Amino acid sequence: MGIRIKLFKKDNILPSSIDLESSTICQLKCRLCGLRKKIYYRGSVGAGFLKFEHFKEFINRNRFIKHIELSNNGEVFLNPELSKIIKYAYSEKVSLTAEYGVNFNTVSDEVLEALVKYKFEKISIAIDGASQETYSKYRIGGDFNRVIDNIRKLNTYKKKYESVYPKLWWQYVLMQSSEDVSEIKKAKDLAKELNMSIFFKLTYEKGYIPNNPDILIAETGLKYLNRETFTKNTKSLYANMCQSLWNKPYINWDGRLLGCCYVSQNDFGVNVFEIGIENALKSANYVYAKRLLSGKIAYKDYPIPSPTNGCKGQKRIPCLYCIRYKYIFENKSFINPKKL
Ligand code: SF4
Repeated sequence: MGIRIKLFKKDNILPSSIDLESSTICQLKCRLCGLRKKIYYRGSVGAGFLKFEHFKEFINRNRFIKHIELSNNGEVFLNPELSKIIKYAYSEKVSLTAEYGVNFNTVSDEVLEALVKYKFEKISIAIDGASQETYSKYRIGGDFNRVIDNIRKLNTYKKKYESVYPKLWWQYVLMQSSEDVSEIKKAKDLAKELNMSIFFKLTYEKGYIPNNPDILIAETGLKYLNRETFTKNTKSLYANMCQSLWNKPYINWDGRLLGCCYVSQNDFGVNVFEIGIENALKSANYVYAKRLLSGKIAYKDYPIPSPTNGCKGQKRIPCLYCIRYKYIFENKSFINPKKL
């Protein structure tokens, strides 16, 4: 028997933003990426592209959706139907972003023009360095000069159409291979020249100990330089993706509801393209996960059950296998949906 759960009025609240993965395929082999290690492909994510027909139907069926984030695991710009997706979203007044990061190595002229012409809102481009040598240490297979050329081409279209869209962000992950201060300074200067905002992010790499921490803090504006120090000092996890279960649920390219961008091995057992987003968000496992994360119910068999220990239905609740829920549970740092 699966999980049964009573629905409350607030479970009917629908989000205006959605994260809809456009591609789980990528041409690079970034050092820590689960795609490179094929972990995601073996799990729930699988390899594929969001189809235009699914995108169109999704928008037509869900008029309350005003914003769609297209990036997460793979490279958005490899999706062969991207220009159609961008054009259709614009015609239906749905704004698009790729804020979780793109590598921007391969972008056709047609797509570059569509990004500007149809006012794609915002793109974060992952560039950890200001030279091919530094950049390619992490973004294996990437071409720094090609990325910069693509940005320049995009800027030419922005000039032609006299548009500020898409707004461009340079995402610089601070790690052993990219912590050289002269590279950071060069990246900041180049970002300015390219009319991009630059922001620095903490690496997933455990045990990163920065050289020259004081200078790095001054140059990057980061308060802490690795995730461990962040959590120790703030008593919270870096990047709160759990709240997306409420305000920006994450849907895989093939319609399966994954809930948040951190999920790669399980899913909630429902497909949005088949049963609709309203039903998917009210499905028992999904609601159960929200109750867990907001501390309304406690999982009695915690610590985490294994999929083979006979638990019923829990296999379909990714949070139960997630280290982030473990932290939340142990530290009682539950999510308060009213504050989102
Ligand atoms: S606990 Fe893990 S799987 Fe669940 S929402 Fe948070 S990050 Fe995602």
